[in-house]
Amino acid sequence: MKNYTIAIHGGAGTLLKQHMTTEKETAYKQALSIALDQGTAILENGGTAVDAVAAAVRNMEDSPLFNAGKGSVFTAQGTHEMDAAIMDGKDLNAGAVSLITGIKNPIDLARDVMEHSEHVFLAGDGAMEFANSRGYQTEKPEYFFDQLRYDQWQEIKDSERFQLDHSVNKDSKFGTVGAVAMDQQGNIAAATSTGGMTNKKWGRIGDSPMIGAGNYANNHTCAVSCTGSGEFFIRGVVAYEVSALMEFKGLSLEQAAHEVIQNRVKKIGGDGGLIAVDVQGNITMPFNTAGMYRAFAKANSPKTIAIYKD
Ligand code: ASP
Repeated sequence: MKNYTIAIHGGAGTLLKQHMTTEKETAYKQALSIALDQGTAILENGGTAVDAVAAAVRNMEDSPLFNAGKGSVFTAQGTHEMDAAIMDGKDLNAGAVSLITGIKNPIDLARDVMEHSEHVFLAGDGAMEFANSRGYQTEKPEYFFDQLRYDQWQEIKDSERFQLDHSVNKDSKFGTVGAVAMDQQGNIAAATSTGGMTNKKWGRIGDSPMIGAGNYANNHTCAVSCTGSGEFFIRGVVAYEVSALMEFKGLSLEQAAHEVIQNRVKKIGGDGGLIAVDVQGNITMPFNTAGMYRAFAKANSPKTIAIYKD
């Protein structure tokens, strides 16, 4: 019998039903559903977990609804600097890019770093030079323009504040996207992509592209993609911490993820959540915020899409 699993997220935060219009809720659910279907189709046809997570993330990068790719937030300089990472749990191969500009699908570039360079993590000009050598075209800044993100930046651009992608009513909301999957061969993978934080200073890098912080995959334990206040997720080495609790303490996927999100990262001030799968195909999606855009699918069962706490 075919067995596969995929889970995706589109960010966590103060996502309360009373702040949401029916149209907005429908738009987010549709976007999640389409991205999930892209990944599911690959797994259903026997494709790899790496292909599935890359496809789901690429799809969300093309949507203005999420803070990644097209919907990336504005930096303090009014630009868009994006970060992404991908990891293959089969051989611990990984690729990541940071501080990149103009690239339509940062996850593709992260994957190219993994597969076509001798390095794991390329940033800034070096990453852009690598992109150029791989034949990437860059999009004009207008491609990444979004009125809501622009208004968010205008509100704080003259201050020292930097903040997570937030909703119009100033509640904190993180719009990073991510996917984790287990394929029919029993391999797992994780991918994460983000525009980071509104008004972030030049050179700021969050947890998303850091292997072990915002993204991690290891066939012996789990595949994890995080969203939340990156500074805290870096300090908590969140994604690897979930894996370590499973490997060294024998915790289940759910116990380990719960411990990290509800206790460890929360204790140091980190808010957000994660999605994770293990090689048995279990899924967990804990968050310590009001909500998290999330969805999952398993072989032979209907997909589930959720935003708020149940
Ligand atoms: N974790 C991301 C960052 O700090 C933000 C997010 O999850 O939206 O860059």
